[in-house]
Amino acid sequence: MADKRDYYEVLGVSRNASPEEIKKVYRKLALQYHPDRNPNDKEAEAKFKEAAEAYAVLSDREKRSQYDQFGHSLGGRGFQGFEGFEDSFSVFGDIFGDVFEDFFGGSGRRRTRARQGTNLQVAVEMTLEEVYKGSERTLSVSRHEVCAACSGSRMEKGSKKKTCSSCRGAGEVRISQGFFTLRQACPHCHGEGEMLEKPCKECHGAGRVQKERKITIKVPAGIDHESRLRVTGEGEAGENGGSRGDLYVQIHIKPHSIFERRGDDLYCELLIPFTIAALGGTVTVPTLTAEEPLDIPAGTPAGKVFKIKDKGLPVLGRPHAFGLQYVRVDIDVPKKLDKDQKELLKLFAQKRGETAEVRKKGLFDRIKENFE
Ligand SMILES: [Zn+2]
Ligand SMILES: [Zn+2]
Repeated sequence: MADKRDYYEVLGVSRNASPEEIKKVYRKLALQYHPDRNPNDKEAEAKFKEAAEAYAVLSDREKRSQYDQFGHSLGGRGFQGFEGFEDSFSVFGDIFGDVFEDFFGGSGRRRTRARQGTNLQVAVEMTLEEVYKGSERTLSVSRHEVCAACSGSRMEKGSKKKTCSSCRGAGEVRISQGFFTLRQACPHCHGEGEMLEKPCKECHGAGRVQKERKITIKVPAGIDHESRLRVTGEGEAGENGGSRGDLYVQIHIKPHSIFERRGDDLYCELLIPFTIAALGGTVTVPTLTAEEPLDIPAGTPAGKVFKIKDKGLPVLGRPHAFGLQYVRVDIDVPKKLDKDQKELLKLFAQKRGETAEVRKKGLFDRIKENFE
């Protein structure tokens, strides 16, 4: 996408060219570079395609305004779908219809072109535990397959194609409307000029049938939320011998009850008794796979964050590398005390001479201090 030419430059018009001007210029270029007039000329073919793409974007008010704002950087999403050479002909067909056909001395018949199958997308939900281990999933995908009965030929074995009786093989019909005579693709043969003598009974002449397929995919450990995996060649079957599309698997990761994920690191909060915060001790911290002892030093304040090495998620594509687990401690202040407990704490407070105290340090220093 990076070395794409500017669409205005391709058409040779200014950025404020009117839609009429754009159309006029495109017509000229399309006729000049049409493959039927430039057989086996790769450069003309590229120019034909380039002009069609530029025209497809600049002739659409919305796409043009997006392009004006974002340029080709939107190419990944906004102008997607303009990839095949086939599209160049459909743009060409939209503007010229079949009216200009004579120009090329063509047979008047649309060729039945090979079409690549469309891409499919499925969504997969995963837990953090599955992200940790990596997972194998079997997906049910409903997609078009080449019809096994006719091998995609669309007709019964041994039968032939016959000339369309409606258009007598021309692939088009003339419709008179007032002063105009329009030519349109023949609705009986869809512009092919031929009809199937005996359409395949299995696929009713479509050449493809809808099938439910099970596809097993491997999701690598450490995969990120909203990642998209591409499974080449597992999309829809192509038409007329075209290759298969791809299958895209969109990964969604379910929220976890304990952990929050940031990159390869995991975050959790742990409530510790205020006695342990004061005296120090060892507590147990849950990890994604088991538990881990954590030493709490005496005098640990609320909000202190501890790091545990290698207890985060596996780093994608780096075997044996793991992120960190962060544990933020909070102090559990008892809400209900019985009489004895109250007495003990009062005594403790007296011995310490405890009163409220104003902080002398800045707030930000304290936040910094809370990170080990
Ligand atoms: Zn069939
Ligand atoms: Zn026909």
